[in-house]
Amino acid sequence: MAAEEENCGNREERVRKMVAAGYDTVAREAIACIRCPLHKSAIKRVIGKGSCNPKVFFIGEAPGDSENKSGIPFYGRAGKQLDKMIEYMELSEEDWFVTNTVKCRPPENRKPKVHEIECCKPFLIAQIALLNPKIIILLGNTAEKSYCPEKKLEWGAPVEHGGRTILKLYHPAALIYTASKIEVQRGFIDKNRGLWQ
Ligand code: URA
Repeated sequence: MAAEEENCGNREERVRKMVAAGYDTVAREAIACIRCPLHKSAIKRVIGKGSCNPKVFFIGEAPGDSENKSGIPFYGRAGKQLDKMIEYMELSEEDWFVTNTVKCRPPENRKPKVHEIECCKPFLIAQIALLNPKIIILLGNTAEKSYCPEKKLEWGAPVEHGGRTILKLYHPAALIYTASKIEVQRGFIDKNRGLWQ
């Protein structure tokens, strides 16, 4: 693990340099990254999609098969659910951005490991610093584990964190597997609309 930890480099320094260099550098470095084993099986790096001036920044879990092939986050079935969620939130295209805790697909769609999340986190933190959203929506527990591992958030209950509002909602894939969660998720969204409207 010591060698792997070294691969992650000095995280604060990595973030500082990428933020100073700008968004294109974040994308370029993520595309060239070989710090964790996930790059070995990745076809495309999945950097993010959406507005360059978003109010809401969604963090998903990890790219799946369609994302790995297309290079676009939430391109497959979970993406259709995310689209429905965004529509229910009444967000327009300029209002949101989405990415994942890791930019490469974990083999067989397993959850990303802590070391992989940590190696990739500087890209996520630099994206947030550069896009400067007011609200960060964590889509599920893996996003929470990546972005604020020190907190135990309640579903649908916003907290202030580092000058931004953080809200944990169900991952769109959970809405596919458990349809009853769709109504609960809508309740969370209704309760929190004031954050982005
Ligand atoms: N699930 C995620 O968490 N992210 C994607 O990009 C696709 C599915």
